[in-house]
Amino acid sequence: MEQARQMLQHHFGYDSFRNGQAQIIQQTLQGQSSLCVMPTGGGKSICYQIPALMLEGLTLVISPLISLMQDQVEALRAANIPAAYINSTLSVQEVDETMQLASAGYLKLLYIAPERLESATFLQALSYLSVPLLAVDEAHCISQWGHDFRPSYRAIQKLFTLWPQKPTVLALTATATPAVCEDIRQLLEIDEQSAVITGFARDNLAFSVLIGENKERYIKNYLTKNKLEAGIIYAATRKAVDAIYDVLSRSGESVAKYHAGLAEEMRMSEQERFLKDEARIMVATNAFGMGIDKSNVRFVIHYQMPRNMESYYQEAGRAGRDGLPSACILLYASGDVQTQRFLIEQTQDASRITQELVKLQTMVDYCHTEGCLQNAILLYFGEKAGEPCGRCGNCNDGREVKDVTVDAQKVLACVVRMGQKFGKTMVAQVLIGSKNQKMTEFGFARLSTYGILKGQYSSKDVSSFIEFLIAEGLLAVKHGTYPTIYVSEEGKAVLLGNRKVMRKEAVIVRKLADNDPLFEHLRALRKQIADEEQVPPFVVFSDKTLRELCEQKPM
Ligand code: ADP
Ligand code: MG
Ligand code: ZN
Repeated sequence: MEQARQMLQHHFGYDSFRNGQAQIIQQTLQGQSSLCVMPTGGGKSICYQIPALMLEGLTLVISPLISLMQDQVEALRAANIPAAYINSTLSVQEVDETMQLASAGYLKLLYIAPERLESATFLQALSYLSVPLLAVDEAHCISQWGHDFRPSYRAIQKLFTLWPQKPTVLALTATATPAVCEDIRQLLEIDEQSAVITGFARDNLAFSVLIGENKERYIKNYLTKNKLEAGIIYAATRKAVDAIYDVLSRSGESVAKYHAGLAEEMRMSEQERFLKDEARIMVATNAFGMGIDKSNVRFVIHYQMPRNMESYYQEAGRAGRDGLPSACILLYASGDVQTQRFLIEQTQDASRITQELVKLQTMVDYCHTEGCLQNAILLYFGEKAGEPCGRCGNCNDGREVKDVTVDAQKVLACVVRMGQKFGKTMVAQVLIGSKNQKMTEFGFARLSTYGILKGQYSSKDVSSFIEFLIAEGLLAVKHGTYPTIYVSEEGKAVLLGNRKVMRKEAVIVRKLADNDPLFEHLRALRKQIADEEQVPPFVVFSDKTLRELCEQKPM
């Protein structure tokens, strides 16, 4: 490993390995096939580039994108590492020349597109080379469950028997759910214990979801407020990309665009402009970005939600690769769900539609989640949630979080004393001390006289508190003739005093009368903050924000 560290210093100019890199490199050098799951920008490339330098022979890198290969090979050559690529941009003669260089032992790394492996002649040419290591970049492309399945990735398996000895395999990806990881491991024959999964959490990203914004105005304002920052705006369709591009360039922004409907040349030059900081903003469909290494992207705005969480995290994750604070903003409108549904139904083959629609639903759930958005993402990818991040929109929505442990204990204890066989309405009635006939009928008259939540809560409040305890997993629902509730294992921990329960204060929705003084007040504030005259008749605020707003005097 000492030698590996020297290579890192000498060729790449870095002093120390990042989280996970050393372990992957060590396993790879020992001939152990591994799966490396690291966030975008985590430094996956070095995990195979350093072993490639240290191993005898040639490392083959399977990579799905032409632009990606070209960038990587250029960077390697700049670092004095002999590397080349073979893809459809090369002439037959250039391919021959590259293969000759490879067989003469002049190359350490050779990048190839997976489609090449479908050609028997090409495989035969490869069979004469000595290949100790096979790196599979963007390895999720091999899985049907992944968000970007490429059938030609399956041809990688042909390489396992091409040489007398199967090469060591290193599969790399940034976004893989547990199911995708398992798929990758099976198809590429990697042991479970050889998976190195570093945290998904990107501590410099602040996620937020904005519902019901005027999107165009929001973006214009955002760009004005953040004048010098580079960023990407993703839209779901080419048409939307063109429209946003037109609006922004007319208002004088330095903007580039990218989608599959543009000619290859145009796409390349637009991408270059953005990468070289000549254009500050890139407006694009999801066709843009895989493998792009632009470190100073300060924001990624989704004009429309993407079709699933994997795509979202990958696209949003293009912000802040340099580790500096960056924003990932999703502008949600319910109509966009229809757009994605339509796109899924148009483009997916019938057998995958249901699966894709289920994934779309989890994307919608994310948009409506009340808790920490960072944690919601971690949970989706099968990681444990940590403390709330404190950076995301939900952590900063101004709603106070209160300790409701004691009230939770009261509810849970009541459920236990009632024998854990009633529905939530009945429990709520006992809790507020109802005197109705059912209490006597079921023998709760005495219990209910205590009405342990009486006075503090209305029966509706208690019901919603019970819903909250169910959502938190402290109470569980048993579905029989009618649903009953019981205390879960987690709930028992609360009863025993081993777990605290925190709850956000409720949001107040208030309909303002035309002559409500608050209306004038809000109008003035809005004008000042967002330059908007119109105030919608419904205001949704937390208690705290409302109090603050009322205290604040417009200038
Ligand atoms: P990934 O493929 O995981 O998205 P890359 O391999 O493209 O990420 O690396 C992202 C950036 O991090 C690159 O600019 C790379 O040079 C840099 N990097 C990689 N390893 C290290 C390290 N150990 N120390 C500092 N920077 C690193
Ligand atoms: Mg990469
Ligand atoms: Zn958060």
